Amino acid sequence: MLFLSIYNRGEKVYNRRMNTLEKQVAMQAIADRIIEQNVTPELAQQAIQLVIGDGNLDADIVFIGEAPGKTEDELGLPFMGAAGKLLNEMLEANEMIRSDVYITNVVKYRPPKNRDPSKAEKAEFLPYLLEQIDVIQPKVIMTLGRHSLEHFLPGAVIGDVHGQIFDVTVGGRDLKLAPLYHPSAAMYNGKLRPTLFEDFSRVSLMLK
Ligand code: URA
Repeated sequence: MLFLSIYNRGEKVYNRRMNTLEKQVAMQAIADRIIEQNVTPELAQQAIQLVIGDGNLDADIVFIGEAPGKTEDELGLPFMGAAGKLLNEMLEANEMIRSDVYITNVVKYRPPKNRDPSKAEKAEFLPYLLEQIDVIQPKVIMTLGRHSLEHFLPGAVIGDVHGQIFDVTVGGRDLKLAPLYHPSAAMYNGKLRPTLFEDFSRVSLMLK
């Protein structure tokens, strides 16, 4: 069966490469299920809408951030505010645009006042995030910041591992993982901005 209703932890669900239309259907089914299954009801109640992701479902690179902020909640798309502008600049500096990649977050609803998502909230969304990765079947996951990093390299410290490439197995598939600083961190600490840009350029080149 092509579309299973529940992500089977550690197992491949989608056993063959899907075409783009099938991926669209599968991604919409994930979004629908998050709503039906009332994932993080407190966040859902306070947010305007679910922000499932944006970009190319056939992309080789998936970026994973933390959670939507105010602008993302209003627009229903990830990384649309100031952090998104920086992400776009980083892509453009490497001759890429948003539609070359897929962009999502660990948590799919805006936490009130942009507080950090809790451990429980991140855990509740994890099966859906893994299922999204299983649908897209990218070659590389680029985590943006520590909240997404901790899902893929538990215990790793962003300051130690940023800009490196790791071999990981996600949902039974072997992938490359490239941890990057979160664009918001680079906005608050100007010194991290060149590091973020250099890390992204270097890992993109290495992964070509
Ligand atoms: N920060 C994130 O982690 N994700 C967004 O979508 C926007 C800002």
